[in-house]
Amino acid sequence: QPVNVRELLHNVTERFALRSQQENIALSLDVPESGLPRVKADRDNIIQVLDNLISNAMKYSSENTTVVIQAHEEENVVRIEIIDEGIGIRRRDLDRIFERFYRVDKARSRSMGGTGLGLSIARQIVLAHGGTIEIDSEWGKGTRVSFTLPIYGENEDGA
Ligand code: ATP
Ligand code: MG
Repeated sequence: QPVNVRELLHNVTERFALRSQQENIALSLDVPESGLPRVKADRDNIIQVLDNLISNAMKYSSENTTVVIQAHEEENVVRIEIIDEGIGIRRRDLDRIFERFYRVDKARSRSMGGTGLGLSIARQIVLAHGGTIEIDSEWGKGTRVSFTLPIYGENEDGA
């Protein structure tokens, strides 16, 4: 149950390397060399969250931009952020973005493929782990999704 975030992020980022090359969107991993405390999480679930968020970041970005995957330690949690320089999300849509099946521009989104479930599933998983998830965006500038996972305690029995 203790998950090494640094190793996990390297792994997931690597799996996006080919797509990154094909779509000409750089992926930049920014994790402290000194390492991070391990988090209390289900590894496969967190991979699902990251797959969702990174694929969104790439899907809604254009060529010659960078997606940054960042992680750092805060009090009792590790914070992971996915930052893109893509199309962004309008203020009025931001409040509804975590709803199931909610997609910003139906016509545009349809051509992009997807169901509108990615973010709601990601949110469900993060909340189930006792973390928080927020999304910040500026139309035309880019989007930042930020979530936390609790640090794994030394004396935990895995419950
Ligand atoms: P799915 O994830 O099920 O394949 P989806 O990507 O459309 O489909 P969500 O991941 O839930 O669904 O995202 C909901 C909507 O939020 C998207 O349709 C898109 O309009 C908007 N969105 C999500 N992430 C971003 C982002 N990084 N930049 C711009 N818009 C975004
Ligand atoms: Mg998605």
